[in-house]
Amino acid sequence: MAWLIGLCGCAASPVAGTAAEGSRRPAPSTMALLRGATSAHEHARSAADVERLLATARRLGIERVVIVGSDRRTLEGQGELYGGLDHNNALLVAAAGQDPRVIPFAAVDPTRPAALARLEHWIDRGARGLKLYSGHALFYREPLDAPRAMALYRLAEDRGLPLVFHVNTARYGAEFERVLQQHRDLRVNCPHFCLQLTRPDRLRRWLERYPNLWLDVSFGFYVHQGFRLVSEDRGALRRLILRHADRFLWSADLVVDETLDQAGIVAAWRAYLAMLAAREFEHEGRRYHGLDLPPAVVRQILVDNPRAWLGDAAKTKQNQPAGR
Ligand SMILES: [Zn+2]
Repeated sequence: MAWLIGLCGCAASPVAGTAAEGSRRPAPSTMALLRGATSAHEHARSAADVERLLATARRLGIERVVIVGSDRRTLEGQGELYGGLDHNNALLVAAAGQDPRVIPFAAVDPTRPAALARLEHWIDRGARGLKLYSGHALFYREPLDAPRAMALYRLAEDRGLPLVFHVNTARYGAEFERVLQQHRDLRVNCPHFCLQLTRPDRLRRWLERYPNLWLDVSFGFYVHQGFRLVSEDRGALRRLILRHADRFLWSADLVVDETLDQAGIVAAWRAYLAMLAAREFEHEGRRYHGLDLPPAVVRQILVDNPRAWLGDAAKTKQNQPAGR
C-alpha cells in the first residue's frame, strides 16, 4: 500500500477543501464523546494556525492537543529536511505558555552532534515531549539505535518525556524493537498504527512485548487509503483494539495551515472519531465502514490512554477538568 511505505502523513494538508462537510454543526453525540479528549499528534504552521486549531478544540470540548515540532518539508511539502524546525518548536512552546491546551513536542534531528543539547534547550523552554522523524524513509540517515539517537531516548526517558516516533516499521522494525527493548520506560506513540495496519498479528506481538508502546490511529495525508483499509478488513483490527484497548491514541495528524479552516479541522477530527465509534461513516464524499467500538472503549482511547502515555506531560498546573 502506498501509504505504508510512502511519505509521512505529515507531508501536506489532508483535509483542505472540506468546508462543505465541515460547515455542518457537529452532532451532539459526537460533541459528548470528544469532551475531555486529547489529540495525540497534530502539526501547525504559524501562530494563527495554532490558535485556529485550539479554537476548534475549545469548541468541541477537546482538552489537550499534542502539537509536534515540524520542519518546512512537513509543513509546506518542500524545502530542506529539518529546515525551520527551531522556528516551529519556538512557536509551539510560546503557544503553550498562552494556552494550557497545547502540549508542545520539540522535534530534533538525531543525527546532528548537537541533538542532545537542542533537546535540553527545548525542555528548558517548556517542551513536554519529543518528536522524531528519523524512522521516516525520507528522513532516515542512520540506524534508529545509533549512539546519538540512543542518548536522546535516554534523556526523554530520564525526564519522563513521551515520544511521537514516526517509524516505517516495514523497513526499520528490527531497529525500532531494539530501541523499545533498551528503553523500557520511554513512552512511545508510533503513529499511523505504526504503519502496520495490515499486520495486526505483528502489532499484537509488539503490544504484548512492549508495554511502553502506544499506537495512534491517524493516517495524515493518506486519510482515504487508511479509512479504506480499515473499512475493508475491520474484523482483525477491531479484535486487536478490544484486546489492547489501553494502547491506542486518537489523532488526525493534521498539518494546519492557512488552507485548513475550522470546519476542515472539525470534519477531520469527526471522521477519526467516526472511524472508531460508528458502524458506517462518510468523509469528503466517500463512505466507509467504521470499527463500531463500544463507547466506553472510544472514551478510553480519547481520554484515558493519552493521560497514561503523556504521564506528567498531561499535568500542568493550568490543566483543569474539561468543560471549563
Ligand atoms: Zn505527523
